[in-house]
Amino acid sequence: MSFLAELQRHFRGELRENEPLAPRTSVKAGGAADLFARPADAGDLRVLLAAAADAEVPVTVLGGGANTLVSDEGVAGVVVKLPAWSGEAQVDEAGGTFVFGSGEPITKIPGAMKKHGLVGAEFLAGIPGTIGGACAMNAGTKNGETVRVVQAVEIASPEGARWWARDELVWRYRSCELPAGAVVTRLEVRLRRPAGEAELAASREAMEADLAYRKRTQPLHLPNSGSVFQNPPGDFAGRLIEACGLKGLRQGGAQIAEGHANWIVNLGGARAADVSFLIEKARAEVRERFGVELTPEVKRIGRWS
Ligand SMILES: Cc1cc2nc3c(=O)[nH]c(=O)nc-3n(C[C@H](O)[C@H](O)[C@H](O)COP(=O)(O)OP(=O)(O)OC[C@H]3O[C@@H](n4cnc5c(N)ncnc54)[C@H](O)[C@@H]3O)c2cc1C
Repeated sequence: MSFLAELQRHFRGELRENEPLAPRTSVKAGGAADLFARPADAGDLRVLLAAAADAEVPVTVLGGGANTLVSDEGVAGVVVKLPAWSGEAQVDEAGGTFVFGSGEPITKIPGAMKKHGLVGAEFLAGIPGTIGGACAMNAGTKNGETVRVVQAVEIASPEGARWWARDELVWRYRSCELPAGAVVTRLEVRLRRPAGEAELAASREAMEADLAYRKRTQPLHLPNSGSVFQNPPGDFAGRLIEACGLKGLRQGGAQIAEGHANWIVNLGGARAADVSFLIEKARAEVRERFGVELTPEVKRIGRWS
């Protein structure tokens, strides 16, 4: 029996063959998933992971697609996208502990923070994507990273799901080392009560300032994946790419953004190969001119030759 037929016997969620993924990414480029699955609940995810492991079918997790470039040739195996299972909140004197489903938007964290008069997650306010993606990417800004507010991570694998304490996982700049084949299903987040009104006001101002800064400096009017490269230690990828004279460089429908050299925008009809070409071009020029090896922050998934 085929993997799909076997899966259809027990899986209750949504299954689609040849599902286009471009609309599910922020850069709006790339091909289709051979099979796209949205589990109905945690049990359904277990069914999917176990069936995929048995059939040796690769599993790729997609969150909000805000940091993902899908190959034009599509993605083999199954692409799983978790629904927005809603979380729980427990608020006490010292702060609040929140459990969020990983398919929920990142903005739910600063949203809960504001709602309960807490502080600590200001840096997440302007970051698009899902809570699972924020965990996997250790998303953040110069003002903080996701790990700072995480207490525990629930991870599902073909063997089942369990909670991992934050310090059982290895967190780095823009990454969290997850066990192979792991899917983050829930995140326990701890936010604290401000010392007083002044700290609460400063927290609100920090979020507004961050959002205003993004509007001013980022080409948000065109599809993109945010920063393409991690910043190398002590420098900025955008500065190095700009110094190579690459700002505004076009390939097909993709362009190294005029306003921010560490961003690649889709001017319309860009292929993933166009975006990938510009990534490699910037990387090669920066290597040659400055001897610096830029590490892509954007995750390329699927069939890349
Ligand atoms: C306009 C814009 C601004 C941005 N600004 C920032 C910023 O300031 N700081 C920053 O850090 N990032 C920024 N980003 C990038 C992006 O928002 C973050 O990386 C975000 O965390 C991606 O979340 P996502 O759900 O979209 O992840 P996706 O792009 O869907 O996935 C990213 C990676 O996480 C993995 N993943 C996703 N969900 C799970 C899960 N449940 N379990 C296991 N693995 C999973 C995927 O397999 C993939 O490897 C920006 C992007 C855009 C478009």
